[in-house]
Amino acid sequence: MRSVTEYLWFETSDRRGYINITQQVEGLIRQSGIQEGLCLVNAMHITASVYINDAESGLLQDYDDWLEKLAPHEPVSGYLHNRTGEDNADAHLKRQIMGREVVVAITEGKLDFGPWEQIYYGEFDGRRRKRVLVKIIGE
Ligand code: ZN
Repeated sequence: MRSVTEYLWFETSDRRGYINITQQVEGLIRQSGIQEGLCLVNAMHITASVYINDAESGLLQDYDDWLEKLAPHEPVSGYLHNRTGEDNADAHLKRQIMGREVVVAITEGKLDFGPWEQIYYGEFDGRRRKRVLVKIIGE
């Protein structure tokens, strides 16, 4: 069995952002030469997510609106966590519901997706550099 470990870096210009990283992950799988295996993709920060869903702009806005309803950024004084001097309690909660990682099967050298599945990086406390781990195992 072979294994490849890579890191992708992201820095969004806004506090929140949703980036389709499918092609980057596919590129790493191609480079790895692995034909049959598994690909793990996980956010390495507790205020960002990696998740799988549709690449549709209306849905991305729906996610953002829904997450802001569940855990609004303002007022920042509404969260105990922000007593630490941070202002990102909402980002921790948003990350929790959108998830930490995804695992996708690799079949014949490609991500074995269902229809419309795409891998997204969800940022909830952006404007700084953050890392995503990609671990590919197989043969
Ligand atoms: Zn925090």
